[in-house]
Amino acid sequence: MRAALTFTLDLEDHREHRAAPARYPAITRELLPWLAELKVRGTFFVVGEVAAAEPALIREVAAAGHELALHSWDHTPLTAITPARFRDDTVRGRSVLEDLSGKPVQGYRAPIFSLTPASRWAVGILAELGFRYSSSVLAAPHPLYGYPGLPSAPFQWPEGLLEIPAPLARLGAWRLPYLGGFYLRYLPLPLIQWLRTCAPRDELPWTYCHPYDFDVDEAFTPIRDAALWVSVLLWCRRRGTRGKLARLMADGCAPPFAEQLARGDFAQAKTLP
Ligand SMILES: [Zn+2]
Repeated sequence: MRAALTFTLDLEDHREHRAAPARYPAITRELLPWLAELKVRGTFFVVGEVAAAEPALIREVAAAGHELALHSWDHTPLTAITPARFRDDTVRGRSVLEDLSGKPVQGYRAPIFSLTPASRWAVGILAELGFRYSSSVLAAPHPLYGYPGLPSAPFQWPEGLLEIPAPLARLGAWRLPYLGGFYLRYLPLPLIQWLRTCAPRDELPWTYCHPYDFDVDEAFTPIRDAALWVSVLLWCRRRGTRGKLARLMADGCAPPFAEQLARGDFAQAKTLP
């Protein structure tokens, strides 16, 4: 049988201007009863600054049975910070989350899959800090980030950290992400379902959405330093996200990553040479 889907959410504040009202707390609160109805518990990768700004929200997420993992302190890509700052930020973000939930944080996801050959040093720091797993790699060439040459199935870094790479669609020689919020919004459901059936059996399927992927009422705001068409693409087609996800998760979801790890699901993961 094919592996069940894991639900993950990158809980971040994507506002362009801090003067605008924050919409992500209300959107996330709307998701909690919806996920409960679908009997889905997932992993919420939370930005440290968001946890510090919205402690009540983070407690609600944890109380609903979801796993809290870290999604950096302030969403700066790994390729834009020094190892020393990464270490400090990671310790700080983790302690905010652990204080809020009373549970150890085991997982880390780099902003925009920015764990690349240039930021490979981050693996050693995560392992040293006691993280059990990372979910930070897109194992294919990509215009933004990517780590071609790595397996797309979960694997162990030699430092002892488990990596759970982003699932990839196979179209001929192409390897493309397809289960992120952006792709869920634009790809037709039958295509996503078909791509799932083509995935290798050892690859772990997981979705990664953001609160804005579900926010159908947000007004359009051009994104700084991005072309207008990019801003438009990121803003459109949010209405179908919930419906498509519900269909994809209808056959039952896997528990949060930390629970999969605890029950030995990754025991077969190969260690990189
Ligand atoms: Zn993010």
